[in-house]
Amino acid sequence: MVAVRLGEAGSVALAAGCAAPEVVARYRAKVVRVEGSECRWWTGAVSGRGHGRFWLAPGRVVVAHRFAFALVHGAAALAAVEVLGHRCDNPLCQRVAPGHVVASSYVENRREWAARRYVTGSPLGDARGARRRARELRDLARTDPALVAADLARLRRVFGEQPTLW
Ligand SMILES: [Zn+2]
Repeated sequence: MVAVRLGEAGSVALAAGCAAPEVVARYRAKVVRVEGSECRWWTGAVSGRGHGRFWLAPGRVVVAHRFAFALVHGAAALAAVEVLGHRCDNPLCQRVAPGHVVASSYVENRREWAARRYVTGSPLGDARGARRRARELRDLARTDPALVAADLARLRRVFGEQPTLW
């Protein structure tokens, strides 16, 4: 994940977005639950890295889970974070909670990734790659969250009875 430091104007726009009910409602309308998954799934635009992209205001697009973090902890708290990590390895996930989207560091993120990369059943090992996997699952979540649940169940069958990280 590349750190995009918010400038003064970016921080102001982010704080304003978090405080604007219509912006928050627009964001929340793009997040769905999937049965059997603890994650909150993004159904909007997706970046090349598989992260959600949220249109905050004219000319301002933010990484969706960064907006989620700012909603929970405030824009100032987000500015103080080195990087956000997805402990669930689901780049679409919007759930700001232990085990999902958490404040992290580059060193910690790299260590976590390396530790889980080769765990059987880890989404990090999905042959589709992070971007394609995220886009496919996003498309399924957008159509019908039950389709994501079916895809995750299929992956569990493929990988055996390993606990899924998603
Ligand atoms: Zn998650």
